[in-house]
Amino acid sequence: MDMRAEGTPVENGQAAFRDALIAAGLLIPTGVDGLYGRSGVFEDVVERFNDLITTWGGGDGADVMRFPPGVARHQFEQSGYLKSFPHLAGTVHAFKGDERAHQSLLRRLEEGDEWTDAQMATNVVLTPAACYPVYPTIAERGPLPADGALVDVYSYCFRHEPSLDPARMQLFRMREYVCVGTPEQVMEFRQSWVERGRALMESLALPVAVDLANDPFFGRAGRMLAASQRDQGLKFELLIPIASAEQPTACLSFNYHQDHFGLLWDLRTPDGAVAHTACVGFGMERVALALFRHHGFDVKAWPAAVRAVLWG
Ligand code: ATP
Ligand code: ZN
Ligand code: MG
Repeated sequence: MDMRAEGTPVENGQAAFRDALIAAGLLIPTGVDGLYGRSGVFEDVVERFNDLITTWGGGDGADVMRFPPGVARHQFEQSGYLKSFPHLAGTVHAFKGDERAHQSLLRRLEEGDEWTDAQMATNVVLTPAACYPVYPTIAERGPLPADGALVDVYSYCFRHEPSLDPARMQLFRMREYVCVGTPEQVMEFRQSWVERGRALMESLALPVAVDLANDPFFGRAGRMLAASQRDQGLKFELLIPIASAEQPTACLSFNYHQDHFGLLWDLRTPDGAVAHTACVGFGMERVALALFRHHGFDVKAWPAAVRAVLWG
């Protein structure tokens, strides 16, 4: 029996698009929902789009930082992520036993028994959003310069949200610009990126809409946090239909955190006030998928104007 027949129309559409991407060789399945390899063609699109982001944002003089896809556990604990998103976090565990424990591990593996409960937490947590390592790094530097701080980050991120939707991966890449400064500075940064982000995506001949959004805060208290985030207009997303026309996918997001990270990390402006922060995030795989959805799987047949923007 085809399990897929039991999905909603949106889920069936997502699964069909995923199967088509796999059949075309663009995504390489691993047997785990949301965990894919990517073909050379897919990666080329991601790299060209990454360069396009730099074309639009590189002139602002952002400090480039590249972190591996792991956050230090002590920084992760301090970041408040577990308060809001315990359901998405992924911790790295490792074997720390002796030879006897090793024998037991192999035995359990052999017998198909649970073996992972003997793994112990390491000091590494998988990065949930590319900007997480930035705040403690900026805090370490002391008070901000007068014009604030602007950082360019790019990282693989992990979120435990397995899905049939190829646009909802468990491991995906996020490029971000992060601004730390006065409320005026970070609001101006965010506004300029809402406009630039839209123009950038329209230059790729993609149908875009910008809308108010909220984060998936956990639990009952989370529903109130999400409502207040919306009321205050703290999060906007640039949406593009990918696997479903009815439910477009967030490909870019524009976030104003107010003094949330400033308070957590004691980020200060030169006059001693708590700094505010904002970030713009680009979902690299989602943008690639949007391009494949709207312009087809054969990049050589993409509209000439789009090819010119990406490949020059
Ligand atoms: P969604 O509402 O679809 O879950 P999000 O609000 O969680 O998205 P952000 O937390 O703002 O997304 O992350 C920044 C960007 O990273 C998003 O705009 C999106 O392009 C991308 N992204 C987020 N989650 C995923 C995922 N599971 N797979 C692929 N890309 C993702
Ligand atoms: Zn961010
Ligand atoms: Mg999400």
